[in-house]
Amino acid sequence: MRRHTRVKDLLNSTNTLHEVNAKGWVRTFRNNQFIALNDGSTIHNIQCVVDFENTPEETLKRITTGAAVSVTGDLVESKGAGQKYEIQVRKLEILGDSDAEKFPMQPKKHSLEFLRENAHLRVRTNAFGAIMRVRSVLAFAVHHYFQQKGFVYVNTPIITGADAEGAGEMFQVTALPLDNLPKNEEGNIDYKKDFFGQHTNLTVSGQLEGETFAMALGQIYTFGPTFRAENSNTSRHLAEFWMIEPEVAFNNLDDNMDLAEDFIQYVIKYAMDHCADDLKFLEGRLLEEEKSKPQAERSEMALLEKLNFVLENNFKRVSYTEAIDILRDCTPNKKKKFQYLINEWGADLQSEHERYLVEKHFKSPVILFDYPANIKAFYMRLNEDGKTVRAMDILFPGIGEIVGGSQREERFDVLVEKMKALGIDEEELWWYLDTRKFGSAVHSGFGLGFERLVLFVTGMTNIRDVIAFPRTPQNADF
Ligand code: ATP
Ligand code: MG
Ligand code: MG
Ligand code: MG
Repeated sequence: MRRHTRVKDLLNSTNTLHEVNAKGWVRTFRNNQFIALNDGSTIHNIQCVVDFENTPEETLKRITTGAAVSVTGDLVESKGAGQKYEIQVRKLEILGDSDAEKFPMQPKKHSLEFLRENAHLRVRTNAFGAIMRVRSVLAFAVHHYFQQKGFVYVNTPIITGADAEGAGEMFQVTALPLDNLPKNEEGNIDYKKDFFGQHTNLTVSGQLEGETFAMALGQIYTFGPTFRAENSNTSRHLAEFWMIEPEVAFNNLDDNMDLAEDFIQYVIKYAMDHCADDLKFLEGRLLEEEKSKPQAERSEMALLEKLNFVLENNFKRVSYTEAIDILRDCTPNKKKKFQYLINEWGADLQSEHERYLVEKHFKSPVILFDYPANIKAFYMRLNEDGKTVRAMDILFPGIGEIVGGSQREERFDVLVEKMKALGIDEEELWWYLDTRKFGSAVHSGFGLGFERLVLFVTGMTNIRDVIAFPRTPQNADF
């Protein structure tokens, strides 16, 4: 028999066709005659009209929600509303039965919590099928953007001995059985020797390694899994997430902002061009959800409008100092009361402040730059004022921080002094310091959390819903 054709291609066919074969999973079966078949290629089901008079009763009974079936017949014009074609089935084969009583994904509205407990099956629903296709297209767009610009894709290590950046947030890696870990003289487990006699962790970022490659290849990007022992339950943090980290030699902070903005706009546009049906579906789903909210809490823009807004408007670039003035001005008792008051220059912004700036004040994505040195990482370039660093965070509506980046400190002496002040071991980072000894130059880069991007593009609100199998505390079984 001929190979089966994907439903998406059948629905996009320019003409009717004789003898096609489709394989997929039954969504619904109406009136003992109409199968809504989905094969994951598109949000749309194809209607398959079963010749029930000539199909054995036994077979008809087995056409249940979730069953895998193969249908063969003609692709004909459909009289039904909203569909161009349907399959007039001549031959129907049940490939895999599904006990409809027990199948958890019956076509009705499920809570997202329920679906999360069924991460292996939720992708059979319209919403998760759409989210996963959008995620896949966005991942391709990431590579497309950087590759067409001549960036080199670098895979930085997942297991690493360096922990200067993420102390306290790192998962340790051990190669030894847990009951046989090396002990020190006091008899306590010596975690410094758990990886074949060396201490290692799962990476929290590939930046430091990436920098060394940028200082040879010019422009590089990483795109891989990143791990943080975030022992808290927020809707924006995962213990395992994917990060995109470009790093560019000879780029300063302004170039870095330009790159980040251009990149984000490009991938969003790419998703809009290649996932129109899925995004339209997700927008409709959100509009339904909004109806149940009080007027004041409803979002001002529908999903596609929100995405278009990001494409058509420059991100607002605001210094940390300006942002603090704005926040001070509106507290207390003026426009807005924060749980955590910002009174002083130097305080770190909490997500309530970030969201206020983006959602209420600027009503636009915001790039905040020139943060106080003491609230940012050691490797960021110190400004001439001696108090601020060339850091930038990009803040998005509904998300908060989506990007963290900076121009890196390229001056050996300044970097070493900074490390000393923070108690960071120079010996451990000897290889990193080498880039400042041999041909150092201005360079910059950023990290973008891929799931936060997918959140924004799909309009979802919990990060657990945009990754296949979310890793969070108490959630690592499968
Ligand atoms: P946050 O303030 O939200 O905790 P961060 O400042 O700790 O983020 P960075 O170290 O700047 O994060 O990492 C770069 C980007 O990686 C962030 O801007 C964000 O998009 C993403 N990110 C960081 N931590 C997580 C996480 N636990 N889960 C998902 N994405 C994350
Ligand atoms: Mg964090
Ligand atoms: Mg942050
Ligand atoms: Mg950050």
